[in-house]
Amino acid sequence: MEEQVKHRVFIALGSNLGDKHKNILDAVNYLIEEGVDIRKISSIIETAPYGLTEQPSFLNCVIEGYTELSPRKLLLLLLDIEKRLGRVRTIKWGPRTIDLDIIFYDDLVIDEPDLKVPHPDMKNRIFVLKPLVEIEPDFVHPIFKKSVKQLLEDLEGKSK
Ligand code: ATP
Ligand code: CA
Ligand code: CA
Repeated sequence: MEEQVKHRVFIALGSNLGDKHKNILDAVNYLIEEGVDIRKISSIIETAPYGLTEQPSFLNCVIEGYTELSPRKLLLLLLDIEKRLGRVRTIKWGPRTIDLDIIFYDDLVIDEPDLKVPHPDMKNRIFVLKPLVEIEPDFVHPIFKKSVKQLLEDLEGKSK
């Protein structure tokens, strides 16, 4: 049998409904159960809501994993895990039990209507960049050719 190549992925997790901490841990456990080999988990940080600010605060973290799944199959798995954890899509950026976003998939660049990798807004999000820097500061963004550490410094510089 041909040996499957494992791809290195970074996934951002967020929750602002129900037992947020448990939702994040349940999602991590589902990922493991589904064969994603999780190597690193960042600290879980509390974050003010993004985009739509009149809603509960979020817990956010980022994981590094290895998977044989294609980008599209990984996306389907993430959407399925969101469903299992009771996510209901109401309004854009509205409250959710769990949100799972693909931030990086190796150094692939994908630009399809329903799948964009690297996540297009990650460079504007402290709650993605901070946990990423904690676990893999030197990872280089395949489009901007800057390390995630540099992207975080750029963003923090801007907000000053
Ligand atoms: P944002 O993407 O700005 O963080 P969101 O996470 O609230 O917003 P969702 O409602 O969770 O948006 O997702 C909408 C769709 O985004 C998903 O159904 C999926 O097809 C698409 N999508 C595109 N790129 C990605 C990605 N890199 N990771 C996860 N979903 C993605
Ligand atoms: Ca998101
Ligand atoms: Ca999402």
